[in-house]
Amino acid sequence: MASGSSWGRWPRHEQRLIALTNRFDALPDSQPMLPFGNGRSYGDVCLNGGGTLLLTRGLDRFISFDPVSGVLECEAGVLLSEIIGLTLPDGWFPAVTPGTALITVGGAIANDVHGKNHHRVGSFGHHVIEFELRRSDGQVLRCSRDCNPEWFCATIGGLGLTGLIRTARLQLRRVPGVWIGGDSQRFPNLEAFFELAENSDAEYEYTVAWLDCANAGSKLGRGIFMRGNHVQHDGAARAIAPPRTLPFTPPISPINGYSVRLFNELYFRRPAAQSSKTLWHYQPFLFPLDGLLQWNRIYGPRGFFQYQCVLPGSVTDETSALQEMLRRIARSGLGSFLAVLKRFGLKPSLGLLSFPRPGATLALDFPNRGEATLQLLEDLDSITRAAGGAVYPAKDARMSASSFQHYFPQWQQLRPFIDPGFSSSFWRRVNTSTT
Ligand SMILES: Cc1cc2nc3c(=O)[nH]c(=O)nc-3n(C[C@H](O)[C@H](O)[C@H](O)COP(=O)(O)OP(=O)(O)OC[C@H]3O[C@@H](n4cnc5c(N)ncnc54)[C@H](O)[C@@H]3O)c2cc1C
Repeated sequence: MASGSSWGRWPRHEQRLIALTNRFDALPDSQPMLPFGNGRSYGDVCLNGGGTLLLTRGLDRFISFDPVSGVLECEAGVLLSEIIGLTLPDGWFPAVTPGTALITVGGAIANDVHGKNHHRVGSFGHHVIEFELRRSDGQVLRCSRDCNPEWFCATIGGLGLTGLIRTARLQLRRVPGVWIGGDSQRFPNLEAFFELAENSDAEYEYTVAWLDCANAGSKLGRGIFMRGNHVQHDGAARAIAPPRTLPFTPPISPINGYSVRLFNELYFRRPAAQSSKTLWHYQPFLFPLDGLLQWNRIYGPRGFFQYQCVLPGSVTDETSALQEMLRRIARSGLGSFLAVLKRFGLKPSLGLLSFPRPGATLALDFPNRGEATLQLLEDLDSITRAAGGAVYPAKDARMSASSFQHYFPQWQQLRPFIDPGFSSSFWRRVNTSTT
């Protein structure tokens, strides 16, 4: 047994670790088990306290790539960053990338991850052509829209519970090179954010905003809106500095109400926040945090929580729920400095339990200050519930069973697809009777 945690570094669980290296091997007889990708989920969706984690990073082989059609087949432990390294020289890029490229293909499918272009292309599952699913009874199912389609939909966003994804065939999208051209604009409030999103979504593939959630009053809902498209640019690509590593975990997190307010003021006022024409390398634009490995240590030994919700409805509904959240966060003094706001598009997700749905999605980081933080997150949950929204399991370590079942009323439909040899700490927490 080894003690392990995910990206939020809380909770920690004792688990048996088994590294997979050959996709043709039978699954070990060590139940309950759960596939583990690269541990970039923030909470316990990739943890299995008391059980076994199947470490999939050893399943890292490319199987085929057609530079004419952009169809790639690989094992499920390949990272998106490795795909980009292979296919970008031929002008192909993953159709959907989350805020880090350091995730595996298996993890991307199991959480049906989304990116800054959800309003255009939907989520990761929309670009999966087919995958192979190995079950603990030895069966291997080929799953696509036409072949075992119900297994295809249960496994996309299926939280790793339906079996081990061994390989996947993905449709990549064409890009002209490494550059993204666009601009950044400060906005004074949420009304201005929604106007910018409305005016930008048709013209720009990527849209996203940073939100200042440490300030209320006249500064409530202010932030910086960024938008961009892949563009052709003839200048030589500047070398991107190799990532650095945060070398140690500070004994006490320097992230607190004061430091967040100061950071937010400086970040909001910096000249680059208002720039009419910017050319970014795709790495700092799409994956800004990948330049500092192990940045999660900054939150200290107690770790941190991420809270990501989606709030549906009209712009007026979304604005009032967001304002209520921002006021509650500002009052708590626990302000988050990584606050990201985006509007999802209308494309229905394919997965039975996929998180993306039309509405505004807000993602926030909070240092773990024990009861005070848990109470704040409960309060945010009541706003999300009242708004008819949902919380993203990939980012969660604490939502109650009743909240989960409220957010995902179809959750019981996953049960027949769950491999009897598989389970997770997350699933055991939310799969309980609430009556
Ligand atoms: C900096 C940062 C930014 C992020 N930004 C976004 C974002 O913009 N959008 C977004 O959607 N997410 C985002 N995330 C979350 C991240 O993309 C997801 O949690 C992703 O699923 C992590 O993939 P992983 O390979 O690390 O898998 P893990 O976290 O290890 O596992 C995730 C799930 O996948 C399952 N799984 C893994 N491999 C397999 C397999 N082979 N077969 C079956 N199941 C498997 C696991 O059991 C688990 O349930 C971000 C995370 C970080 C750290």
